[in-house]
Amino acid sequence: MLIDSHAHLTDRKLTADLRGVLDRAAEAELEAIITVGADPADSRAVARLVAEAPRRQAGAGADRPAIFGTVGVHPHDAKVVTDEVLAELAELARGERIVAIGETGLDFYRDLSPRDRQEVAFVQQIHLARELALPLVVHSRDAHGRTLEILEREAVGLPGVMHCFSGDQGVANRVLDLGMHIGIAGPVSYPSADGLRQVLRHVPLDRLLVETDCPYLAPQQYRGKRNEPAYVMYVAEAVAQVKKISFDELARATTQNARELFGLA
Ligand SMILES: [Zn+2]
Ligand SMILES: [Zn+2]
Repeated sequence: MLIDSHAHLTDRKLTADLRGVLDRAAEAELEAIITVGADPADSRAVARLVAEAPRRQAGAGADRPAIFGTVGVHPHDAKVVTDEVLAELAELARGERIVAIGETGLDFYRDLSPRDRQEVAFVQQIHLARELALPLVVHSRDAHGRTLEILEREAVGLPGVMHCFSGDQGVANRVLDLGMHIGIAGPVSYPSADGLRQVLRHVPLDRLLVETDCPYLAPQQYRGKRNEPAYVMYVAEAVAQVKKISFDELARATTQNARELFGLA
């Protein structure tokens, strides 16, 4: 039983077909899905979705995966973060089954918000996570140096995950030194991802999470198509191959890691 540790179920590409998406996730025997907030309106939508989702109950119906949420503002939208937005995130974060702050971080690839605003919003959300004693979901793209500097200055001792990991061995070592987890997404299955697979060999099994980041980044089998939580099994397969362990062993470890990191119950 796998947990998709990073999905965007509130994305329009998935809401159009959410019932089907969750049915297929149930068929793939997912235990849980963490749906991640990306901006203030999206974080509200996440809070609504997890409040409305029926609890997973043994023997009830088709055993749909449990849905947990995170609230935060992605670096793309960092420019909208104000004190009011932070207060609303804090309020939403107290809701039932909201298990983390994020995704937050830095994205110097697309630079959709000015870099100084990204950094301020990142630090503010790190502080929010600490205040609320919640783990942090970190996004870093073409910004690993700066992301790590900020984490090492502001987030020591704070649990979290560097999601959709795309760094080299040095970045991985610093993330692990911080005590954080490393989230592996679909790109691990791409033929060109030898570098990532090389790094993955050295990541301890007890610090790994698997994720889809759907609707984006479909694994090789569905590359270019809409991604969804059921496909996390292809990510897990690729990771198990790299780690030279069975699918079941990989599933057991990553599921336990996600339960512990996010305090799922
Ligand atoms: Zn991200
Ligand atoms: Zn994401």
